[in-house]
Amino acid sequence: MPAPRPTDLQDRALGAYLGLAVGDALGATVEFLTPAEIRRQFARAGGAHKEIVGGGWLNLKPGQTTDDTAMSLALGEALLAGGGKITALAAARAFDEWMRAKPIDIGNTVRRNLLRFRNTGEAKAPESEHDAGNGAVMRALPVALATFGRTKSEIAAAFEAQAHVTHNNPLSDAGGLAVIALIHAALAGSPWPELKAIAQALAAGHPQYAWNKRQQENPSGYVVETLVAVLQAFFATDSFETCLIDVVNRGGDADTTGAIAGMIAGAWHGAAAIPKRWQKALNPVIAQRCREQAERLMAVSISIP
Ligand code: MN
Ligand code: MN
Repeated sequence: MPAPRPTDLQDRALGAYLGLAVGDALGATVEFLTPAEIRRQFARAGGAHKEIVGGGWLNLKPGQTTDDTAMSLALGEALLAGGGKITALAAARAFDEWMRAKPIDIGNTVRRNLLRFRNTGEAKAPESEHDAGNGAVMRALPVALATFGRTKSEIAAAFEAQAHVTHNNPLSDAGGLAVIALIHAALAGSPWPELKAIAQALAAGHPQYAWNKRQQENPSGYVVETLVAVLQAFFATDSFETCLIDVVNRGGDADTTGAIAGMIAGAWHGAAAIPKRWQKALNPVIAQRCREQAERLMAVSISIP
């Protein structure tokens, strides 16, 4: 449902980046749980997980984020170093440097393909049907911010350059480009039906993404299940808070559904719509890096002729 929108582009860009980190921190607590397990574990809180409290299988501190936010920030730095442009090699180096710092978590496909990059020096992974995980889409936000206002082919080239380092797969590409299109439409202040049309076009082009059919519970790391859950939650709710609570309580890859729903809902509803208690709970160093990148990536996108 449509709701009143912030009029300020910068507030929406900031909402997208803080939304990503907030969704990651919120969802990580219940990552890999089923909806029934979440209802049981949060029975005393009314049967739903609604607070940024850390924990989860990674035993996080409250407000700590995971690979979704970390890889986005690494990619954002590489984009800024390239003046808003990215090559597969620059992305591969940024991700490899992040992996060398021994992150608390890392996806299997990401690890496998970064080790392949280390061994071969070839940044781009060969196309693979096994690489339809959500790992390239979860870090798409800095590309969306840096390519705001660019042509379709420039946007696709930037997304795919970074994506194909670890996930060279048509479903990942289609999903990632749809997420970027949704973020761009939300940033531009486009009306609700335009966003719906983007999601419907995704399902028309790739029937696996038919998100309007049955409810996706327990979404896995398969990009289709992840994005179906995100699209259902986003289009069924009218606030940032209800969207995020809906999607993370579906369990499964909840930090990543939270991160992706957070970027889209954050771009739509704006930073001011992110509950203050969640903004306060977010790790302040991470929050500051998100703020800085949101501002600098938007400045770069607007400055490119
Ligand atoms: Mn994660
Ligand atoms: Mn995850």
